[in-house]
Amino acid sequence: TGFCSSNSTFYSKRKPFPLPSNRCLDITTFISSFPHHGKTAFIEAATGRHMSFSELWRGVDSVATCLSDLGIRKGHVVLIIAPNSIFFPIVCLSVMSLGAIITTSNPLNTPREIALQMADSKPALVFTTSQLVPTLAGSSLPIVLLDKQEIITASEAKIVVTMDQMMKKEPTGSRVRDRVYQDDAASLLYSSGTTGVSKGVISSHRNLMALMQSFSCMANPDEVLQTHICTVPMFHIYGFGAFALGKLTAGSTVVILSKFDTNEMLWAIEKYRATCLPLVPPILLGLVKGADQIRRKYDLSSLQSVLCGGAPLSNALINGFLEKFPTVNIRQGYALTETTGFGASMHSPEESRKYGTVGLLTASLEARIVDPATGSALQVNQTGELWLRGPSIMKGYLNNVEATALTLNSDGWLKTGDLCYIDGDGFLHVVDRLKEVIKYKGYQVPPAELEALLLSHPEISDAAVIPFPDEEVGQYPMAYVVRKTGSNVSETDVIDFVARQVAPYKKIRKLAFVTSIPKNPSGKILRRDLVKLATSKI
Ligand code: AMP
Repeated sequence: TGFCSSNSTFYSKRKPFPLPSNRCLDITTFISSFPHHGKTAFIEAATGRHMSFSELWRGVDSVATCLSDLGIRKGHVVLIIAPNSIFFPIVCLSVMSLGAIITTSNPLNTPREIALQMADSKPALVFTTSQLVPTLAGSSLPIVLLDKQEIITASEAKIVVTMDQMMKKEPTGSRVRDRVYQDDAASLLYSSGTTGVSKGVISSHRNLMALMQSFSCMANPDEVLQTHICTVPMFHIYGFGAFALGKLTAGSTVVILSKFDTNEMLWAIEKYRATCLPLVPPILLGLVKGADQIRRKYDLSSLQSVLCGGAPLSNALINGFLEKFPTVNIRQGYALTETTGFGASMHSPEESRKYGTVGLLTASLEARIVDPATGSALQVNQTGELWLRGPSIMKGYLNNVEATALTLNSDGWLKTGDLCYIDGDGFLHVVDRLKEVIKYKGYQVPPAELEALLLSHPEISDAAVIPFPDEEVGQYPMAYVVRKTGSNVSETDVIDFVARQVAPYKKIRKLAFVTSIPKNPSGKILRRDLVKLATSKI
C-alpha cells in the first residue's frame, strides 16, 4: 500500500515537514518568526477586547522581562491555574521564552489536587485569578494576579504583582538570557497515561515546534482569514497546543471564552462570524439535540467546520449533526498529551467524509499496531494497540522513570493504550481504550486516584473504579466498593466522601457494594470484567 513497510511500520501519508537546524532555539522565538499578515491574534469574547499580534508580542516581551526580574530562570517551573483568557497564551509564551517550564492545572481542581500537583512539579511562581487564590491555601509561593489591576491583599497568599502591571512594563533589554535548546523542557501538562495517577508530561521546545509545523503544513491559503472559537480548555493539550499557541503561526484569530457555555458559544459564533469551532463529543451532542431551537435563535452561517477530538464520536452523532447543519463539515482529530497533540486529523472536506475514522496520521509520524497479547506488529485493517513515534513524542514523565519506561520504549515508540486499526487508505480508526483512564466530557479521570481516595476511607477495605458508558458525557466513574467487616457505610456517604476531595468532573456517579474485587494473580484489578459486569445490567 506504500505507507506500510515490510516490518509493519505505518508512515503518515502526509508530506513530512522540516524542523529548524539551529539547536539553540526556543518555541516562543520560533512561533514569533512565522511570516503572516494576521491582524488580530485574540479576542476576549465576554469583553470584546481585541489583541493584535504586535500587542501580543510586546506583552510577551514585557512579561518575560518581569519574570526575569523576579528571578525566573531556565529550568524553573511556573504554574498557571486559570480559566481561558487573553493572558493565558502570553503567560505560556513568556515563560517558555526564558527556558522556564509552563505547567497548567484545571481551575476546577480542589486545593488537595492542586497541592499534589504542586508537590510534584515544584513551581517557583503561580499565575492565577483572585477567585482561585484560596485554592492555593498553604502555599507561600509568589502569585501574579491575572484579573486585577492592582494588588489585593489576601491573607496567607503572597501576591507580588498583577498581569496588568506586568504588561505595562517597558522591556529593558537587560534581562538575563539563558541559552535555550530545542531539546530542553518547555511544557508540563498532566496526564495519567496508560496507568496510575496523573503525571507531568515533559514536552520539549522541539516537540512543540513539531506541532506548530504540523499545523502550518495543513493550513489553507485563507487560514489568516479564519476565526476560531476557543472554548476548549487551554490547560489541556487541545486548547494549549492548537489555540493558545497554534493559530499564532497562521495569523488567524482566536475568540477566547473563559469557560464552556452553550449560549455564550453560539452568541460568539454569530457576533464574531466565526468559521471554525473546536469541540468535544458531548458538546456536539448538545448542538444536535437543540439544533432546531439553536438555528432559530442564532445566525451560524459563518461556520465552516467543527473540529471534534478528545474522545470517541459515534457515526450516529456525525450523521445527526450533518442532517441538522449540512453546510458545516466535521473534522475529527485524535491526539494525546504524551504526543504533544500529534495523532491523526482531517484536513480537507474530502478527508472529513471518511466517517468513523479520526483521519490520517499527522505528518512525520510513524505508527505500529501491536497485538497486546503477543507483542507482534500487525498489518492494515488488523486491530491492536497503537504505538507512535515521531518528533512530538514527550521526553517522558516528570519524576517517574518507571512510568516513562512502561510507556516509551528504547526505540522511541510511545504506547498509546488505545486499541486501533489503520485501513487501506491510511486512515486511523479508534476501536476501544485499553488504558484505565476514564474520559468524562473529554476530561481525564484517573481511576487509580479515586481508588486511593476510597481506600483512605476508614470503612472501606477494597475498591475499584471503572468507566461507565453514558451518551451525554461519554463515560463517568463508577466504583465497586468492599466494606470493612461490620461496616454499614452507605452509598451516599462514600460518594460524598470522594466528592468533597475532587474536582466535580471526577465525582463517582454510580456505586455498587461487592464482597471482593476481581484481581489477577499478581493483584491487578480485572477492570474489563468489572466493566462487563456493570454494563450487562444496563
Ligand atoms: P488526553 O491526553 O487527555 O488528550 O487523552 C488522550 C486520549 O483520549 C487518547 O489516548 C484516547 O484514548 C482519547 N481520545 C482522544 N481523541 C480521541 C478520538 N478522536 N477518538 C477516540 N478517543 C480519543
